[in-house]
Amino acid sequence: MTPGQQKALREAIGEMMPLAAEIFSEVRMVSQDRDGVTRPAWSAEDQAAGDILLRAARAQDLTTRTDQIGNTYASLKGRNTNAPAILTGSHLDSVARGGNFDGLAGAVAGVIALAALRRAGIVPGCELTAMGIRCEESVWFGIAYIGARLSVGAMERAEFDALRRLDSGRSLAAHMAEVGVVADDIWRRDGPEISAANTKAFLELHIEQGPLLIEQATSLAVATAVRGNLRYGDGVCYGAYQHSAAAPRRLRQDAVLAVTELLQRLEALWHEIEDNDDPSAVFTVGKLFTDPEQHALTKVPGECHFSLNFGSTEPRTLERLATAVASLTAEIAARRRVRFALGDPVGSPPTPLDPNLRAKLSASARRLSIPCLEFATVGHDASIFARAGIPAAVLLVRNGEGSHNPRESMDLQDFELGVNVLAATMIDLADG
Ligand SMILES: [Zn+2]
Repeated sequence: MTPGQQKALREAIGEMMPLAAEIFSEVRMVSQDRDGVTRPAWSAEDQAAGDILLRAARAQDLTTRTDQIGNTYASLKGRNTNAPAILTGSHLDSVARGGNFDGLAGAVAGVIALAALRRAGIVPGCELTAMGIRCEESVWFGIAYIGARLSVGAMERAEFDALRRLDSGRSLAAHMAEVGVVADDIWRRDGPEISAANTKAFLELHIEQGPLLIEQATSLAVATAVRGNLRYGDGVCYGAYQHSAAAPRRLRQDAVLAVTELLQRLEALWHEIEDNDDPSAVFTVGKLFTDPEQHALTKVPGECHFSLNFGSTEPRTLERLATAVASLTAEIAARRRVRFALGDPVGSPPTPLDPNLRAKLSASARRLSIPCLEFATVGHDASIFARAGIPAAVLLVRNGEGSHNPRESMDLQDFELGVNVLAATMIDLADG
């Protein structure tokens, strides 16, 4: 871009902010649920959000369409009509009584970026497309990323057909039909809607779901990678219930003290890893309880339930933690005469994000004099595109109070800076 185009683009994005605010507020209105918003994928609310986005895009003279899944697209034609497109976007659905910006911010950012480029008279080197993605949170079906997976052909028909709404048992296909999406059409198409052959890159703007940008007083960050995880959901330690006053220490089989020793030693290991090796490592004990039917002030606890949840961008960290869990539980069980039953861990591998795209996002921010950090993020639609072989990256925007709750808060000024970096990077990629 010439300096003149850069200036025109920045002004156009500024002029588009009232429209962005209007879209956020309209979508909030159609999905308001007591103190938050509820937009389950393929619900009337999520459909209305897609319609609002498409209408706004058409009013800005962007070309719009939907695919067989109901994902929405708004496009700005480029000079080379045969070249693979640059794709941006995020999900339209929300958790139950969640915040309005998780996902929606990225979907709106794409439309605003393209509309501003058009207004500034900038013709990209190739087509730029803004996508509104179905079913990332998947509050009804419990399996994340359904819309993105279907769009890249990363879901088998058998898995799709087995998907039922968790509370009612109603099929995904039946819910799709309710908003005019014919599930059979997904399997009739020639190939996936989005592939490495037709898409050069996927850029996702998303609110930060942690507190780092607030702590660092910075508006934006480029995500380094998507953390993988290693989870033991239903760990139990079995000891023996004994009289609290009568049992001497050497004869006790205290399940609670055994578990708390395990947790403290895992925490110490986490600190060591985080300090010396892998700052992306996280460790959470979300569940820890004794059996209320049996526990008492006067009993040595004979049973203790707990969960372990590790995250990292480094496969070697997750392997190291799995080994530590096995050896620590064996050692503690032998010494304290208890038994640990952890079950098989479940997890997902870390997803690296594209180094070239990350560098381009950071370079755009530098050119625009917008401070921008770098750190790891949680799972987003971008990881599905990355796994499908499409170079992908995530731009995080400062957000207060975490996400998946009604208190989510993103300043429109931070959003505007994010759209500036996004639009500049898309042009850079399209022209490169
Ligand atoms: Zn999200």
